[in-house]
Amino acid sequence: MRPFAYHRPENLAQALDTLRDGGSRFRALAGGTTLYDLMKIGVETPAAVVDIHRLPELDHIGVAGGELVIGAGTRMARAAAHPAVVRDFPAVAQSLWRAASQQLRNMATIGGNLLQRTRCTYFRAGAPFPCNKRDPGSGCAALGGRDGGHAVLGGSEDCIATYPGDLAVALIAFDAVVDVEGPAGARTLPIADLHRPPGDTPHLEHTLRPGELITRVRVPASAVARESAFLKVRPRESYAFALAAAAVGVVRGAGGEVRECRIALGGVATVPWRAAEAERAVIGRPLTAAGAREAGGIAMLGARPGRDNAYKVELGARTVADALMSLAEDR
Ligand code: FAD
Ligand code: SF4
Repeated sequence: MRPFAYHRPENLAQALDTLRDGGSRFRALAGGTTLYDLMKIGVETPAAVVDIHRLPELDHIGVAGGELVIGAGTRMARAAAHPAVVRDFPAVAQSLWRAASQQLRNMATIGGNLLQRTRCTYFRAGAPFPCNKRDPGSGCAALGGRDGGHAVLGGSEDCIATYPGDLAVALIAFDAVVDVEGPAGARTLPIADLHRPPGDTPHLEHTLRPGELITRVRVPASAVARESAFLKVRPRESYAFALAAAAVGVVRGAGGEVRECRIALGGVATVPWRAAEAERAVIGRPLTAAGAREAGGIAMLGARPGRDNAYKVELGARTVADALMSLAEDR
């Protein structure tokens, strides 16, 4: 690991000043559960880290003005166990519970979770493997290589790395927004605009500007968020990233017909993936196994499998279908 400076600001204003001065050479340090890993393997080489882990302004959670508001510094474990999240946003709670391990969730934060980087083994292994994300213009070892964990949706000719997080999948399904603060002041963006698909610039993964911090996440309270679920398929039942995941929500009318539906996928795409066409296919009909299966197939339309990851096309479709049917069975 290369030498780096450590800054510990007293409050958010100080943190923002330090980050502004450091620009793209500095990194915010939250729980450090992924940033330090990346520094040890030389993927991240900041001149300094700015420790935001204990800033009181970022550590809060509650429901206000018809929305769930979670400070970016709130620990994942705290958010997962919050009664309002468990009751009114079950997909969000489940996406947090099923991520990482209890030890990690005790340390890791909401903001850090959203901005974690891909687990692509070539990206992390470094030389001799080419990787456009790590070393722009060098090529992509996963294209035509071992791509069993890679994305089948949202990839490009330059990168097919899977976005690994669970929480962002639940948030994108329920129209969450993130509030950010930085050198140019405060702004709000839909979570759908936070992560960038790889295109021909896979090293640019999000739309935050240098010096900007996520300060909080807001999720509108709604009937469809209350009737929601998050299903994650992984190699073992804990401490593993998703091979496929689905966040779903359904509101039904008195006759059982679906009036509102949300579907988002994780583990199969380069960014958290909202499946709007699949949502439309479910609306206006009763929720049946056949309908859920059809929606799962539509959610995976456009998938481009490579050498080893074709199984994700079927797995993604079935994960969506099973997640939807778990809501039908709950009634
Ligand atoms: P840090 O490591 O401190 O930071 C991560 C990145 O976010 C850094 O670039 C940092 O600069 C940036 N950052 C942090 N906070 C902010 C902010 N407020 N504003 C702007 N930038 C910010 N995750 C899952 O979702 N599902 C899993 O199944 C899962 N399994 C895991 C298994 C293992 C073994 C490990 C090590 C991790 C796993 N994770 C999983 C990832 C884990 O959830 C993340 O490491 C964690 O959420 C990162 O949070 P942190 O606070 O530690 O972030
Ligand atoms: Fe790098 Fe992306 Fe290719 Fe992985 S998939 S080797 S992260 S360019």
